Amino acid sequence: MKLLLIILSVLMLSLLPAQPNVTPADIVFKNGNLYTANDRAPKAQAVAVKADRIVYVGTNAGAQEYVGQNTRVVDLHGNTALPGFADAHQHLSGVGFREMTLNLEGTTSLEELLAKLKARVDQAKPGEWVTGRGWIETHWQPPVFPTRWDLDKVSPNNPVILGRADGHGAVANSAAFKIAGIDKSTPSPFGGEISKDKQSGEPNGMLLDAAQGLVRRKVPPTTREDAERAVVLGVKRDIELGWTQIQDAGGSYEDIDIFKKLYASGAIKLRIYKAVYGPGPNANRLISEGPIVGEFQNRLTVRTIKVVSDGALGSRGAALLAPYSDAPDTSGFLTVKAEELRPMLIEALRKGIQVETHAIGDKANRFILDEYETALKAVPASERKVADPRWRVEHAQIVNPTDIPRFAKLGIIPSMQPSHAIGDLFFAPSRLGLDRLKGAYAWESFIKSGVVVPGGSDAPVERGEPMIEFYAAVARKDPKGFSTTGWHPEEAVTRAQALKMFTMWPAYAAFEEKLRGSIEVGKLADLTILSADIMTIPELEILKTRCVMTVINGEVVFEGT
Ligand SMILES: [Zn+2]
Repeated sequence: MKLLLIILSVLMLSLLPAQPNVTPADIVFKNGNLYTANDRAPKAQAVAVKADRIVYVGTNAGAQEYVGQNTRVVDLHGNTALPGFADAHQHLSGVGFREMTLNLEGTTSLEELLAKLKARVDQAKPGEWVTGRGWIETHWQPPVFPTRWDLDKVSPNNPVILGRADGHGAVANSAAFKIAGIDKSTPSPFGGEISKDKQSGEPNGMLLDAAQGLVRRKVPPTTREDAERAVVLGVKRDIELGWTQIQDAGGSYEDIDIFKKLYASGAIKLRIYKAVYGPGPNANRLISEGPIVGEFQNRLTVRTIKVVSDGALGSRGAALLAPYSDAPDTSGFLTVKAEELRPMLIEALRKGIQVETHAIGDKANRFILDEYETALKAVPASERKVADPRWRVEHAQIVNPTDIPRFAKLGIIPSMQPSHAIGDLFFAPSRLGLDRLKGAYAWESFIKSGVVVPGGSDAPVERGEPMIEFYAAVARKDPKGFSTTGWHPEEAVTRAQALKMFTMWPAYAAFEEKLRGSIEVGKLADLTILSADIMTIPELEILKTRCVMTVINGEVVFEGT
């Protein structure tokens, strides 16, 4: 009798769709090739999700127990599933505006740039501004900046300003210079430079860093509707590429208002970890009002001030300790004053605000490490709202090797963008000389020194595609597989490290390592599902890999065809 009961109960159990003590999941993903980024259980086949959380990670059979009458079952057909990818450094509305204005990405020559510009000018109304972004001259023959006289040939009347891809330089035409009132006698503003023709001393059209503002402030402002559309377009592009979170490196409270409106109406689903610019009014407001954490189902967090401490290497605005090897009369320039920075850093520590600072050149990196160190000493952990403030250096691109260990020592996070290396390495040897390349884009040296390195794209400075970033990190070669002297192949990372650069480490850099960044029970259900196994395929095939599905909070927000 007893035996019969046992047999009966076992039979009944096996017939039930779910075990009585297991709540059925809302969605189950099965037949996957899962890499979890969790070192204790790195591989799995299936994952079950209830509401926004992961409730099971393991085998297909195990996940089956979570399938109830109303559970959606998604067959991954053996595709590779990763923790939701995060871009640790992006400019979201810039990505959207790149789609909306003249997009000059991938322009291969000055002639092509002028042809694209002419096509746009032909459609413009008389006197209407033409703006665009994305050119980069380093692969042109010869690799020199365009001038205002070049632009005048196709746009003699319409004012034009075209940003270099890195955002740290722009070329404008003579009509734009006239409106801005810039001539031979106009001095360069602090933190910027009006480039001049070497012979005549006339401005040649190139404006570096802060000098761009002289022209940009004459461009009719974009409307609120434009800005909203840019965010929607940027988010659409991001989730189609497989990003589940972007860390938006700078902006204002106006951006935050737009995000809130778009989240509230359901127009956007991407997670955004937002920084506002400082020192200045936006930073002051964040310090006085305090952070916004995890609003809209953990989609929106604002707890960071973005500082910009120098320019970029391509436009020779990066601040170097010694002059540029290919321009001995300049060593770049800092773009923030220490006396404005210091009180803000102290307040930020007291109020629990994270600080992230753009620093490209070795001088800028040393400058910001010094400033961070001084502030950390002035406000001991007991006087901070957040004891470990996880301050970041964005780019940490050219760092004197003696400064690399200071990051780990001070608890500073270098937030780096692999694609910068494979683009810049074509001109970095001439800008810097081979010796200074030892501390350039030094991902592996940083990891070995004991820090995490969150990975980002810096789009629209770069294209903003996760597969380009992953490839650049593991290959450290250009998209054709090319590499040459001075590229330091030993600084490439392993695939397991690259996976963390776009999952666990951005989560850590955002204080979210308990919430997301790996496929683990209890964490938010974000997944990036790919057409190929980027952990094992030959390097160049990574670039051909597509995103087939993006999942945020357990919801399939993008499904490819
Ligand atoms: Zn940036």
